[in-house]
Amino acid sequence: MRVRLFWKLGFTYLALLLAVLLAVDFYAARVLRQDYLHAAEERLDSLAQIARARPPDLNDPAALNAWISWMKQSGARATVITAEGVVLADSDHDPETMENHSDRPEIRQAFAVGEGSSVRHSHTLDRDLVYHAIRYLPPGKTPVVIRFALPLAHINDALAEIRRELLVASLILLILGGAISLLFSRRFSARVKRLKEFTHRVAAGNFDPLPGENSRDELADLARALNETAQRLDSTIRSLTHERNQSATILRSMMEGVAVIDSRERLNFCNQAFLEVLELVKEKVEGRPLIEVVRQSDLIAAIRKALEGGEVVQSEVAVGTVRQRNFAVTAAPVPAQSGTAPPFGAVVVLHDITELRRLERIRRDFVANVSHEFKTPLTAIQGFAETLLGGALEDEVNNRRFVTIIRDHSQRLARLTDDLLTLSRIEAGKMEFEFQPIPIADLVAPCVETSRLQADAKQLSVEMDNPLDLPPIRADLSRLRQVLQNLLDNAVQYTPPGGHIRVTAEVKDQRAIVTVADTGIGIPQSDQERIFERFYRVDAARSREAGGTGLGLAIAKHIVEAHGGRLWVESTIGQGSLFHFSVPVAD
Ligand code: ADP
Repeated sequence: MRVRLFWKLGFTYLALLLAVLLAVDFYAARVLRQDYLHAAEERLDSLAQIARARPPDLNDPAALNAWISWMKQSGARATVITAEGVVLADSDHDPETMENHSDRPEIRQAFAVGEGSSVRHSHTLDRDLVYHAIRYLPPGKTPVVIRFALPLAHINDALAEIRRELLVASLILLILGGAISLLFSRRFSARVKRLKEFTHRVAAGNFDPLPGENSRDELADLARALNETAQRLDSTIRSLTHERNQSATILRSMMEGVAVIDSRERLNFCNQAFLEVLELVKEKVEGRPLIEVVRQSDLIAAIRKALEGGEVVQSEVAVGTVRQRNFAVTAAPVPAQSGTAPPFGAVVVLHDITELRRLERIRRDFVANVSHEFKTPLTAIQGFAETLLGGALEDEVNNRRFVTIIRDHSQRLARLTDDLLTLSRIEAGKMEFEFQPIPIADLVAPCVETSRLQADAKQLSVEMDNPLDLPPIRADLSRLRQVLQNLLDNAVQYTPPGGHIRVTAEVKDQRAIVTVADTGIGIPQSDQERIFERFYRVDAARSREAGGTGLGLAIAKHIVEAHGGRLWVESTIGQGSLFHFSVPVAD
């Protein structure tokens, strides 16, 4: 680059110098020649004046030769020629050997008009001469021409001298110019190189400014302009990056799945939540057609509707087969820049409404369950009351039995209402607990005693394994007894005659775990989670027959959780169940 620049500058400089030299040479030669000719002519003219004043004696050849010799002293050549062109005398040559001169232009001119001059090559002397001739009319004779001539060689010498000097000066100038242009090109190309490196650096994302330039030329202006551009680029990129990071962070931390679909139904962008909801892999979906990526036809339909209709579309999709989740879909079209064009694409937001739908279902089920639970005893009571009124009252055999049934069902209704009230109070957070340090034996022993009566009736053994050294627990005694009693009642209820029931307690990690184990019918795996739900029963008829409400475990779970503990079950069908609950030990 530097070399190229140097040569470019060098050649320009050389061409310029040559042009100037040629012009100077041409002009100098012209001026010199003109000056010299002018001076020569003036000299020859004065010689002619002298010749006129003292003309030669043409009759006497000796006098003529003397005159010629005298004239020669002026430094000019003198010649006398007759009208016929015959040379009578010449200062530089023997007239005898000289040719006829009648054809010489200055001589013809002199005979014609009295005076003539010319600049030409002398055949006699074989060199360039300036001639000046005059006509001289000697008294009583035919006219002759006296001619003076000066050589031109001096001009050529002077020109050669000037040329030599010019050449030397040009050489010095050339060396000086070369050195200057080398220095200049070196500095210039170094600066250009710096600018080039700077632009590469900026392109690579490094926006550090160029150090300031001292010069005040266009290159320095360019450097300043580039610096300014880089600074603006830097700040623009910074703010864009900041905005992008902010949006990325927001999108990443969003619980909602967000995706952008373009007008050709390609998935342009989606956040992590979207990928997780639809079980997709980022690398495999971005830029791909929606139809290849998304399996949920409802979702595709909603997006299409938004793209085609240009309006926000609300919909719902279910995702997953084993654990189905529900999502509310909002597909909003993104309008194109110009108002009339079709939408640029659509933004889809998936909002998880699984819990909402679950709660709705639970509420619906609950209302249905409550109605159902109330309906059976109420129908029975109504039926038996009408039977009694219809005449059975007098039936000595059955009337007591019917009234007993009515009483049992009304007791069941009362239990149901009690349980429902308890449950709603707990769920509303209105139940108050009085926590106290309680020895575990105080909790377990009375409950086991209470159950023993029923257990004996069913030939079940009830055992209690309660190590004495256990620390007291932090509990509301009456409420926790309600829990344990419920577990024991269930154990008795769901264990066939001859079985065993055992209550144990242990302490682990500052928590007491009480376990009620039975050798009963067990609970199927799929129901184990659900038996803690309200009204959920594995065998509804059997439970009802035994007077159960289906609310016991739901209440128990709430009470244990209010203690800061947990209630859970392990069970194998046909072998028995283990119900555990944990409560914290007292500080
Ligand atoms: P219920 O009043 O019907 O006993 P619970 O809430 O106490 O209601 O129990 C819910 C269901 O859990 C019962 O209907 C029964 O199917 C099942 N269950 C509870 N305890 C046991 C157990 N020890 N063995 C087998 N099944 C049980």
